[in-house]
Amino acid sequence: MSSIILEARDIRYRYPRGLEAICGISFHIRKKEKIALVGPNGAGKSTLLTMFNGMIRPDSGLMLFDNLPIQYDTPSLRMLRKRVGFVLQNPDRQIIAPTVYQDVAFGPTNLGYSEPEVKEAVTQALRHVGLEGFERRPPHQLSGGEKKRVAIAGVLAMDPDVLVFDEPTSGLDPSGSEDIMELLDELNHEGKTIIISTHDVELAYPWADRAILMLNGKILKEDIPEVAFGNPESVRKAHLSVPTLLELHMELQKRGFLLHGKKPRTVLDMMQCIETLFEKSVSKKRHGMITVCNVDLKTRENLPKWLSEHTGICTGAMGTRAKQCAENLKIHLDFTYSVIDKCILKALLGEDSVILTTESMVKRVYLRVEAYGLESGVHIPIYHISTAPEEPNEKNKSLP
Ligand code: ADP
Repeated sequence: MSSIILEARDIRYRYPRGLEAICGISFHIRKKEKIALVGPNGAGKSTLLTMFNGMIRPDSGLMLFDNLPIQYDTPSLRMLRKRVGFVLQNPDRQIIAPTVYQDVAFGPTNLGYSEPEVKEAVTQALRHVGLEGFERRPPHQLSGGEKKRVAIAGVLAMDPDVLVFDEPTSGLDPSGSEDIMELLDELNHEGKTIIISTHDVELAYPWADRAILMLNGKILKEDIPEVAFGNPESVRKAHLSVPTLLELHMELQKRGFLLHGKKPRTVLDMMQCIETLFEKSVSKKRHGMITVCNVDLKTRENLPKWLSEHTGICTGAMGTRAKQCAENLKIHLDFTYSVIDKCILKALLGEDSVILTTESMVKRVYLRVEAYGLESGVHIPIYHISTAPEEPNEKNKSLP
């Protein structure tokens, strides 16, 4: 198990002339965890988040970062804020400079990076969030989703270990929200600890490793999402609702259906429950196959031709760069979120699919499909498009 990166010990905080917003909270967060603080408006989520990078100091109790109590002198806070990046709910409050470049450069410049280092940090951060070429744009002319990405790039440019997002999808449309949640997944996959606050149960439930339910400045429950949201009583008490898939699972159980395996967090999990329930052996069918294409390789240029030779194949893209590559190559995408699960669902129906993704995510596709195979006993063939540019159509090579 990873070591603890953030810890609160019986912390309390009252705003000047306000009510006590944090009323004796203790918890810990481990490195590389995905944590969702979930609760209704006024529960104390934002207040708690701002304690993670020292913006608010508890009146009593202790906040620790990397096992050391947070110090509130200016140099210590500077170091802390380099390691714990904070993305505000409203990007208009975070973006301050007249151009995207200047805004993203603000953090690294403040940290004393040299000019070439600042340039490199900004280029990398903008690439990460899919905003290459936006350097000279004035932020106020960007869409809500783009502004959010600028704010995230500004934080990423300092290469923090922990990223804290206050209501990351607020104000975004469903597709913009999916893109942001996927970006958070990508960052987590690269080793960052991600903490979000939200009142959206459906958003937190499939995403988080652990959910912390809050109400009136206190923690009501803290566990893996299946357990944290699994008790309708405490969920109601927190003014929240039980996630739909979990509720459906509970209702089926109440009706005497014996459901084996884990509680469903995704549609794929639910399908697995249902297939088992009706003893419908999916393994007797021909399964579709999943092809993975690494868009970081030159061979991406051959993709349109490959796709034209595989008409009707479902195409999904995972990650900002993969989606951008699809856009540049005018490739129609059927899936842009929960891509691996959706392709497994297709495979179970006997349909083939292709996943465009980046170098760092290829392994993740293999691991997820392999894990599904182990859980369900269903083997889904997975291949990758060859890496050799002169052999654009060669496939059926497993990754080493
Ligand atoms: P959440 O993020 O869960 O909506 P907040 O942390 O914003 O909750 O608020 C927790 C409590 O603190 C609420 O009662 C809110 O009214 C109060 N509060 C938040 N910000 C301030 C402030 N600047 N001054 C006084 N009270 C505040």
